Amino acid sequence: MIDFGEVWLVGAGPGDPDLLTRKAEKLICDASVVFFDALVGQGVLDLVPDHVRLVPVGKRAGRHSKDQNAIDALIVEAALAGEKVVRLKGGDPSIFGRAMEELTACRDAGIPVHICPGVTAASAASASLGMSLTLRGLARRLTFVTAHTKRGKVLSLDWQALADPEATLAIYMGKSSAAQIGEGLMSAGLPGSTPVALVENASLDGEVSFVTRLDLLPLAAKTAVGDGPALLLIGEAIGAAAKAQSRATLHRADFDQDRSHPSTND
Ligand code: SAH
Repeated sequence: MIDFGEVWLVGAGPGDPDLLTRKAEKLICDASVVFFDALVGQGVLDLVPDHVRLVPVGKRAGRHSKDQNAIDALIVEAALAGEKVVRLKGGDPSIFGRAMEELTACRDAGIPVHICPGVTAASAASASLGMSLTLRGLARRLTFVTAHTKRGKVLSLDWQALADPEATLAIYMGKSSAAQIGEGLMSAGLPGSTPVALVENASLDGEVSFVTRLDLLPLAAKTAVGDGPALLLIGEAIGAAAKAQSRATLHRADFDQDRSHPSTND
């Protein structure tokens, strides 16, 4: 499946090994070396056969560019040495995954390089919430945006473009910038009552989800979630999902009540 001297950038999905594609599983079983990120789930790493060399290349926040060059060099070196290389990345490799740097490094070195897509965190988070990211008439646009900033830099996003009441925003790496995100979107006109969901560790055992409103986002980001990777979803589609869920809970309560007080006609 992988030729010697070839590189595959493989999406590991959000953490749950059952969300790995069949192709990704075949690739990690056929590799001779797997370089993996810090966000790749343990359950996925457990699928890597013992004979495959497993190399962590997790990046530490704030040291990205230097580390990225070192990772590019490692991958290229392994492929030039004739290894079958898998570069395993959290979620989908092409979404906030520095895939282009690695593709370019391989291509510049004349190494064949391919991508195997993965389930991105936004998809896992919406699945956890039981909601649709898009919604006919309410959320016509879905925007994936990262709130990551270089250390010491102020978050600068096009708030005017992002404050679209008919969009769902999926914000990656946004937890620590929650206050700036809330302020930026509200000052660009998005109402404070806009529904927001925070989903931490989507698809994993430690998953936490919390639904709130935009003006309460800074508080929620500090108190409702912990240290795990978290995604922010903002927009009316989240509110519609929350309403649908509370309706379902009410129906369920009616149903349970009916069962505990069976009608005398039964
Ligand atoms: N390529 C990845 C994103 C990498 S950026 C993807 O497609 O999902 C890393 C950010 O993704 C994290 O800071 C967090 O915002 C989000 N993320 C990754 N895994 C997550 C998970 N299991 N639950 C919630 N958010 C997650």
